[in-house]
Amino acid sequence: MAAPVGSLYNPAEDAVIAALAAFLGSPMATNATYLPKTLAARLDPLALADKAVREAGKLALSVPLTGRGPYGSPVTPLSSTVRQVKIDEPTMRAQYILAASKRLTSALALNVYPQAARLERNFLKQHRRAGVNRLRAAGDLDSVATAEGPWLIWQTQHDSTVDPECRRLDGRMFTIDHLPDGQIPGAVHPYCRCYAIGMSGAVRNISPLGGMHVV
Ligand SMILES: [Zn+2]
Repeated sequence: MAAPVGSLYNPAEDAVIAALAAFLGSPMATNATYLPKTLAARLDPLALADKAVREAGKLALSVPLTGRGPYGSPVTPLSSTVRQVKIDEPTMRAQYILAASKRLTSALALNVYPQAARLERNFLKQHRRAGVNRLRAAGDLDSVATAEGPWLIWQTQHDSTVDPECRRLDGRMFTIDHLPDGQIPGAVHPYCRCYAIGMSGAVRNISPLGGMHVV
């Protein structure tokens, strides 16, 4: 299949992310403190600095993935958004490693590596915070789906500070098996205040004038 014109699709990077994610989701990663040499070598075609890849791998492995069992598999047994978030976590962490490797490679070229390595700790914190937030939002969504599902409606706060990406999703009907654009209400961006309501709850609010109030 040809790469979509003008998109960020990059098959070489996708292959690297898949290889990193397979490792991160495996029991081997649980006690690892650095990327295995053979795995780090998979990043060679991307022309990243070895030192940058080593540091990015060390950082990524310094914090455990959330909600993983001793064999690397998610511990939640049922099909749910929480489970999906846990399944996706190694891929998100792999994407972080790639992004960090790129940032540190640029820093080496610009001769600002020590500063960049310090900054990288903040990026790791942000990455972790986003992961925790995503898991929380997934739990909230599963609760709403259990109580009021399966049909859900995306809700923003309907004020002037709503992010354009969230505004685009406002009012979209979905189920937890088909998230709109793969997004979870409350986890689109770090300060996302979106939430979901059940379709049945929305229908109960039909006014005598016939308009459906989804507020
Ligand atoms: Zn939002």
